[in-house]
Amino acid sequence: MSHEGIRIVSQEQAEREAQPEVKLPVDAVTPAKVRVMKTEGTGVEIDWRDGHRSKWTFAWLREACPCATCHEARDADGRKPGIPKAQPATLLPMFKEKIRPLEANAVGKYALRFKWNDGHESGIYSWEYLRRLPEGAEV
Ligand SMILES: [Zn+2]
Repeated sequence: MSHEGIRIVSQEQAEREAQPEVKLPVDAVTPAKVRVMKTEGTGVEIDWRDGHRSKWTFAWLREACPCATCHEARDADGRKPGIPKAQPATLLPMFKEKIRPLEANAVGKYALRFKWNDGHESGIYSWEYLRRLPEGAEV
C-alpha cells in the first residue's frame, strides 16, 4: 500500500481548513451606492444593501491592495491590510505625492479596480473583500 497522496498538515492548519470563512449574506456584499471621490481626492464610500456604510481613504485602500505582490509584502512584514510599511525614523521625510486613483473602474459586477498615481493597478477589490476590510481612517 502506498502512502503517496497523503498530506501531513499541522493541527492548526487542519482546524483552519475545517472551518471555512463564514459566508456573508448577499445584501452585505452587494453595494447599493458606490462613491469614489476622485475629484476631492479623499476616498471611497460604499452604502451596502443591508444598510451598512463603509468608508476608506485612498491611502488606506492602496495599502490594502489585494494583489499577490502587495499581499506577500504585507505578510512578510506582518502588516494588516491598510497599514503602511514603517519608515526608518532617521530618514528625512521625503516628499511623497498624496496617493489617489487616476482611474477607478468596475470589474464586471463584482469588483472595483484602481489605477493609482504611483503606477500600481493590479489589485482587484471585490465587494466581498471590501466588505470584510476594516474601515480605514477618516474620509
Ligand atoms: Zn498590489
